Amino acid sequence: MLWQSAMALMVLAAPALAQEAKPHPPQETLIRNVRVFDGRSDRLSGPTDVLVRGNAIAAIGTGQQASAGAALIEGHGRTLMPGLIDVHVHLTFSAMPLLALFQPDLTPETAEGEAARAAETMLMRGFTAVRDAGGPVFGLKAGIDSGNYRGPRVWPSGATVSQTAGHGDFRTPNEPSRRFTGQLSRAERLGATFIADGRDEVLTAVRENLRFGASQIKLMAGGGTSSEYDPLDVTQYTLDEMRAAVEAAEDWGTYVMVHAYHPRAVRRAVDAGVKVIEHGQMLDEDTLRLLAERGVWLSLQTLMAGSPNMAEARRIKRRPVIEGQERVWPLAKQLGVKLAWGTDFLFEPEINAAQNAYILRLRAWFTPAEILKLVTYDNAQLLALSGARSPYQGRLGVVEEGALADLILVNGDPLANLELIADPAKNFAVIMKDGRIFKNQP
Ligand SMILES: [Zn+2]
Repeated sequence: MLWQSAMALMVLAAPALAQEAKPHPPQETLIRNVRVFDGRSDRLSGPTDVLVRGNAIAAIGTGQQASAGAALIEGHGRTLMPGLIDVHVHLTFSAMPLLALFQPDLTPETAEGEAARAAETMLMRGFTAVRDAGGPVFGLKAGIDSGNYRGPRVWPSGATVSQTAGHGDFRTPNEPSRRFTGQLSRAERLGATFIADGRDEVLTAVRENLRFGASQIKLMAGGGTSSEYDPLDVTQYTLDEMRAAVEAAEDWGTYVMVHAYHPRAVRRAVDAGVKVIEHGQMLDEDTLRLLAERGVWLSLQTLMAGSPNMAEARRIKRRPVIEGQERVWPLAKQLGVKLAWGTDFLFEPEINAAQNAYILRLRAWFTPAEILKLVTYDNAQLLALSGARSPYQGRLGVVEEGALADLILVNGDPLANLELIADPAKNFAVIMKDGRIFKNQP
């Protein structure tokens, strides 16, 4: 029993020590004379002031007074809007080409360093929050949150959960399964994926991610374009395996998102209780209707053909997906499906700088106001599905009193000229995340 008393003492002692440090008043920033895009409206507000205290928006209205020592930003009538949100990134796998990831001497530390550099440039493009849709990310996220790295807020999924031969099974062509004569695969060792078959292994994989702080679970429900061995049309995981993942996630207060393109995989996922479909570019009208009826989110992309460095096999596999998105975006909008937007860049660090420009592709189907709402307010509603498992409590995607202070000051009016957001280096004068100023170029 002695050790128990000792443990209790240690636990009790910790808060007492912490209280000795004197709390200093939260930092304030007064942003004067801006017109606000609030994340939802189709027009800007009249000229106003926005007071940020600590990490939240304290007040909005003309004539705000800040306390002594507050930072002052003169808006000169420019536009203040919520930070951009991308709900489908792979912070680690978009930071490095495939060849580098396959280097035998690649360490987790090297990968994290590369990803941290890429995360900083992402924040400097105005992306203040992202959902990481799979890959080693927990160390990176902790480094960003503690201030060691500069990057967006991260909703991490951790390792993807995939069946054997599924979209997350990245073994080499002749590498046998660890269940038979093989060993744990490289992608599993890197924290990229769990190859899990059957209810029991799926439960363990999901719970392992949750233990590390996953805010939602990413599961592979159908064939993919960036994997070599699973044809695009296949369905992955039985209904019972998928239900097991949903049960474990929901018992933890969060949800499952699945990678899936075609109706058969998506219908099974919906039956299993999955809340978010990633991709869905090959869906038919009936299945989109089902998503609308059940309130299931469709998290879609605006993919382009890919860089010249993309492998030919991958390029061919992507073709029907890219063609499908031209049909699915407008149809899903028309049917009232809950839509979210993400980029899903993978293994092509040379295209990361085009993250903002990819938003402009939505102009084929949406007005500028709808687009800005999608990449701020709507995407934030999707992040909020993580509920109490969200790593950052508070409202995002809006400029409102009480909301978290993730803000961009734009040189001009993006509702009138959406192209402004595609050149963040030139047009984003201020970038603030969590009340902290990361860029200020008056
Ligand atoms: Zn992805």
